[in-house]
Amino acid sequence: MPARVIDGRAVAAALNAGTARRIAVAGLAPRLSIVLAGNDPASAVYVRNKDRAARQVGVAVETIRLPASVSEMEVLGEVGRLNEERSVDGILVQLPLPGTIRQRAVIEAIDPAKDVDGLTAVNAGRLAGGAPFLVPCTPLGVMKLLAAADVSTSGARALVIGRSRLVGRPLALLLTAADATVTVAHSRTRDLPAECRRAEILIAATGRAELVRGDWIGTDAVVIDVGINRLADGRLTGDVAFAEALGVAGAITPVPGGVGPMTIACLLENTLKAALARRDQAG
Ligand code: NAD
Repeated sequence: MPARVIDGRAVAAALNAGTARRIAVAGLAPRLSIVLAGNDPASAVYVRNKDRAARQVGVAVETIRLPASVSEMEVLGEVGRLNEERSVDGILVQLPLPGTIRQRAVIEAIDPAKDVDGLTAVNAGRLAGGAPFLVPCTPLGVMKLLAAADVSTSGARALVIGRSRLVGRPLALLLTAADATVTVAHSRTRDLPAECRRAEILIAATGRAELVRGDWIGTDAVVIDVGINRLADGRLTGDVAFAEALGVAGAITPVPGGVGPMTIACLLENTLKAALARRDQAG
């Protein structure tokens, strides 16, 4: 039987509907500021998608566009201004930043209370310490997809391929907190196919097109494909050879239409969370 295809668009639509309802009930107008520096075409597409989704749920969104020639000081100045701006609930700096700008320095400049991407050391530390506040959107989206697809993580053998601060690391922490037995694989892992075959939940976040082949996947495994890779012919593909995997896996997310929409939906939920927390703080 072919694998069940997990529909990320449908799950994201339901999450967005809930966020929109909660915003209306709270009588809030959460505000998200996106800093987009340079001319990276993929970043422009991501920001446009975030902008559109934000408007649909009632998040007021503005994109601050900075030229590719912008200096680190200028980006830091913009982040500082948004930190101070009382009406701003969430700040997202779209990565990558151009030129020699130090990404880490810019991320760490964001007020952790407004860090809706969950990337500051403060929010990463809260997650690692078991008291998460704003959690990175893509890993959070993966956890919500697993829940929506009725995948039980408790006691399950989970493999995360990738150890980035953005995806792999926080995802491993979230899966551990959800009682999975977690292995993290990466570019130095000795026998990746063998690690994959053992996994009941296999999550690929490498940015290597179709790295995970069908015969690496255990029978009935749940496969979550985080990768977004553009092939020479312009098509988008994930980190998993989808057509091969369909014949073996129990369930799988497609690319596009899997994790991507969840990332945006979680960003908007995080923006609401930040707005509610700031309102409570203000008393
Ligand atoms: P990254 O480049 O920071 O990290 C990639 C990780 O994969 C590294 O830890 C590396 O060790 C590992 N890796 C690379 N090649 C490998 C190999 N051959 N075998 C085993 N491990 C290998 O990337 P990232 O920011 O974590 O993103 C990963 C992928 O997820 C990219 O394709 C990115 O576009 C995609 N992504 C998607 C979303 C979404 O919303 N769907 C969000 C963020 C990232």
